[in-house]
Amino acid sequence: KLKSELEGKAEHYADKLVPWTLGATGLTYLLTRNVTKAMSILMVDFCCALKLAMPISVLSAIREASLYNVTVKGGKFLEAVAEADTIVFDKTGTVTEGRFAVTEVFPESMSEQELLNIAATAESCSRHPIARSLREAGNVKPSDGEVLEIEDISGRGVSAFIDGHHVYVGNAALLEEHGINFSVPSRPGAAIHVAVDNVYAGHIMIADRIKDGAFDALEELRAQGVKSLVMLTGDVRSAAKTVASSLNFDMVKAELTLDGKITAVEYMLSKKATGACLAFVGDGVGDAPVMTHADIGIALGAVNEYSAIDAADVVLMDEDIRALPEARSLCRSVTDTAGQNILLSLAAKAILVVLGVFGVINIWIAALAELCVLAAAIANAGKNDIKFEKENIDERSVQ
Ligand code: ADP
Ligand code: MG
Repeated sequence: KLKSELEGKAEHYADKLVPWTLGATGLTYLLTRNVTKAMSILMVDFCCALKLAMPISVLSAIREASLYNVTVKGGKFLEAVAEADTIVFDKTGTVTEGRFAVTEVFPESMSEQELLNIAATAESCSRHPIARSLREAGNVKPSDGEVLEIEDISGRGVSAFIDGHHVYVGNAALLEEHGINFSVPSRPGAAIHVAVDNVYAGHIMIADRIKDGAFDALEELRAQGVKSLVMLTGDVRSAAKTVASSLNFDMVKAELTLDGKITAVEYMLSKKATGACLAFVGDGVGDAPVMTHADIGIALGAVNEYSAIDAADVVLMDEDIRALPEARSLCRSVTDTAGQNILLSLAAKAILVVLGVFGVINIWIAALAELCVLAAAIANAGKNDIKFEKENIDERSVQ
């Protein structure tokens, strides 16, 4: 159902060719009065190569891609990845590792340990990388007490009731929105604030790292002809700017909620030139709905994010961001070879028709040659020129 445009076109032409083939057969008979010559045109019909070569190219590419942990949900998406010229990235977990280290803890009126425990308890159900990192931070013992009404607030943090106390854990915007006064962190970097019963309880400094190979991956995408690389994030402006400038993003928008990310993508879609293709790449934590708004949604390393696997059109199981340019070059080589394949088989058949009509070859040779061309087209379609070499990726990640 999700055929590529090239596949659709090939089928369309194949259908259009039928009356011409029949017409040419009739005309040849009228002109030559030779049934064998007329029949050789009918033999060498063009439809089979068109109808078979393209879907086989696409199917074999999808199968081949799956060997490299890339799931493409249809020929249409294979083509879209190849054509994507604006790529929009989520930040946390996509271009950064999403594994935060707790660097410092600044409690107001309790011990550092207590503040960490409260934060980890409130975060006990969140799938956000920050939540995972807080839970996994050293010495953290989540409270045994009753934890109720845990709520994930996209781009902000979480809210929960612990032993009857209402706790907010999240960024400055979360506290601001609920009118809670807080102290501005004295150190630069990302701070996670905690409030208990609407009273500020302190903050925890955390640090994330840009993924290995992110710079190379983005440069590679540019070299492949991607015109615009954009980063959207819910994180604060200062953190977003640091990442964006070290990776040379063309545009960055920070402090966005999920709806803000969707609006930004829709704005970019409304501004783009016709025929241009916009891809959104995310890790699936809180950004799966954005994927359905872009021309093509790509989930990166979203092995356990079922909503992302569901929403995305292409799923890259590897967390390695270098899988993205590799996947794009795979898709390009498939669409290129598929196009060539169609041209070659049509040219070969045209020659056969001419030879048949002029009686250079008889009908049996025409039939045999026709089958050979078809077999060659199918064999060629199944043998994609894959530049996606797993060994290379492994080698680079070791380095
Ligand atoms: P990104 O867009 O970079 O992937 P998110 O939108 O997931 O980031 O989150 C944006 C910001 O919201 C985070 O930097 C953090 O400050 C805050 N945040 C979101 N979820 C949580 C959470 N579970 N715990 C604490 N803070 C959170
Ligand atoms: Mg994210």
